[in-house]
Amino acid sequence: MTMENFVFKKKFGQNFIYDGNLLSAIVLDAKITPQTEVLEIGPGEGTLTKKLCAAAKRVVAYEIDRQLQAPLGALQSEFSNLEVVFEDALKAPIEEIEKNFGGDYAVVANLPYYITSPLIFKFLASRASSLTVMVQKEVAQRFLAKPNSKDYGIPTVMINYQANVEYLRTVGRKMFTPPPNVDSSLIRIVKDPAKPKAKDEKFFASLVKTAFGARRKTLVNNLLGLNIPKEKILSALNKCSISSDARAEQLSVLDFISLSDQLN
Ligand code: SAH
Repeated sequence: MTMENFVFKKKFGQNFIYDGNLLSAIVLDAKITPQTEVLEIGPGEGTLTKKLCAAAKRVVAYEIDRQLQAPLGALQSEFSNLEVVFEDALKAPIEEIEKNFGGDYAVVANLPYYITSPLIFKFLASRASSLTVMVQKEVAQRFLAKPNSKDYGIPTVMINYQANVEYLRTVGRKMFTPPPNVDSSLIRIVKDPAKPKAKDEKFFASLVKTAFGARRKTLVNNLLGLNIPKEKILSALNKCSISSDARAEQLSVLDFISLSDQLN
């Protein structure tokens, strides 16, 4: 299998980047240093991988498509600090992936869109210190949304609860081969262990999910879905200085934390 007769697979979200300037910019954006250990997800033909190997201490790349063995094998012979693993990064247990790294590590990925959210949440719960990822532009807008905007929702609150999200650059569809139907944004998600935490994180997660249940409903009506008496909800809102006719999208992450601690 040579790259000349390689057929791009839609089911694996294969949209490759060949532009050298963009690839270098991604490595700079990811703040890779000669001390950084990198987990790359979906190296494809290895264009970004090559630049990462030149900048980082070590790169471990997880690729699902074994038809990419030829170009990635060649790259492995060229760079002694590269290891390629042919596995599904979503299915591989996090403990297995992390055996590759001594301490923390940076995730870098031009991700297939269909696994954006599960992968981000998988690595938010891991030892990875940052994730530099290419995502659909609309998804980036959701992660970066401020309260009171239409893009503000469950993913916004759940990511910003644990991490800070930085917008890096917009990448037009024409930068990819083949071009997808949407534009992309490169973002960096940096975990922040100093962020305030809810007393019960499981309850916090279900509170956020229930709060955004039906967009047209008020917060109180959505929260009745938690099977908590209305009186208790109203008094908790009052203690948190949240209006009784508020809607979920008006609450900051800190509001959700106080409400969670108040209700539980
Ligand atoms: N990083 C390359 C390729 C991006 S396309 C570049 O920028 O050019 C996305 C890549 O992710 C493809 O190579 C695809 O085969 C791979 N991929 C898709 N799903 C995956 C999964 N679950 N685990 C690992 N790799 C995956």
